[in-house]
Amino acid sequence: MRQKAFKQANPILKLLSERGFRAYVVGGAVRDYILGRPIADVDIVTSASPEDVTELFTQTYRLSNQHQTIIVKWKGLLFELTSERGIGIEEDLKKRDFTINSLAINETGQIIDKIGGQVDLKEGILRSVDPLERMTEDPLRMLRALRFVSELGFHIEENLMNVLIMKHSLLEGVAVERIVKEFEKLIAGHYRNKALQILLNTEMYRSLIKLELTTQNIHDLQSTGSVNSKSSVLRWSMISYCLGWMDASPLKRLSLSNQLTHDVRERLRFFRIRQTKDWNSWLLYQAGLETAFDVESLRVLFHQSEESIEKILQLWEELPMKSKSDLAITGRDLLSTLKKSPGPWLKDELEWAERKVIEGECLNEKATLLDMLAKRREML
Ligand code: ATP
Ligand code: MG
Repeated sequence: MRQKAFKQANPILKLLSERGFRAYVVGGAVRDYILGRPIADVDIVTSASPEDVTELFTQTYRLSNQHQTIIVKWKGLLFELTSERGIGIEEDLKKRDFTINSLAINETGQIIDKIGGQVDLKEGILRSVDPLERMTEDPLRMLRALRFVSELGFHIEENLMNVLIMKHSLLEGVAVERIVKEFEKLIAGHYRNKALQILLNTEMYRSLIKLELTTQNIHDLQSTGSVNSKSSVLRWSMISYCLGWMDASPLKRLSLSNQLTHDVRERLRFFRIRQTKDWNSWLLYQAGLETAFDVESLRVLFHQSEESIEKILQLWEELPMKSKSDLAITGRDLLSTLKKSPGPWLKDELEWAERKVIEGECLNEKATLLDMLAKRREML
């Protein structure tokens, strides 16, 4: 999302303000707007209650675990509206993690900046007011600090840095789901290597216990190319490979979704096969187009030679079929022709036929395939 969402938030602020409520865009969206960076999500803080918000807008969703927040869908985009909880915007801003995130903007474009966030943005400094208190009340912020270094290239202010060195072990108690989100963003940032160096120097990496990072892992991560893709599959495939995970099972320990774990496992499997051979029809058919493209992206990250997209696409176009369901025969056809009872042999026979078709040795026609399979059985 570019800065469009930020402009589209304005009518929401106006509407709330016309009804007599205070409303501000806050946090990361203001920071990224000022920096001219793409905006991930727009958070709004308002004096309106969740009930007021639900009444005022037609498309609203309630988050089950966050009672003060309502998601509002407005012209196809999602906005998070959080009620002030009686503390007022200035108190709210002071409670945030870093000065650069403690900014708000109202419907007239006026910026509220109580603790010098704009100066720090301009000077590229990551700072917290009272860092010991800020970091200990939610230790995840220590990893977020490195995530912002990675994304923005900022310099960590000395007092904050000292807290990171002294207190990073508190990260051991943070839910793995939260760690994983920030770590993935850290890996994808433009200044990743700078952030990884701090991870190493502060020894914070030892406190991300479920990742089981070693100094060697961190050096390996540093020497890969930069990940421009937004794809979590690609990011975690790259991480898994650098961490020496042979398959994707450690991803389960990190509470990543089954789908993501499955997709990463596929990438790693074909990435390894691809170390010893070029793409051919059968390999591409088994991998599928998306996996093949990701495998090539991984090769680029690891400074290996890459097959061109055109070449892979051409090979894909030439495949006589794209999936098992396109095969002209089914298990049922085989059972009735060969008059055998079902068993593991069935799967083998079908796969053999599938491969013959893919490799162009047999047409994908029912009679031809059945004939060929019958002959094969006679020879066995
Ligand atoms: P992104 O660009 O990835 O969305 P962000 O800074 O917007 O980064 P979010 O996780 O979306 O980060 O949080 C939105 C805002 O909420 C932050 O800018 C910050 O002000 C505040 N915030 C989020 N997490 C914390 C936290 N753990 N402690 C304090 N403030 C936080
Ligand atoms: Mg955000």
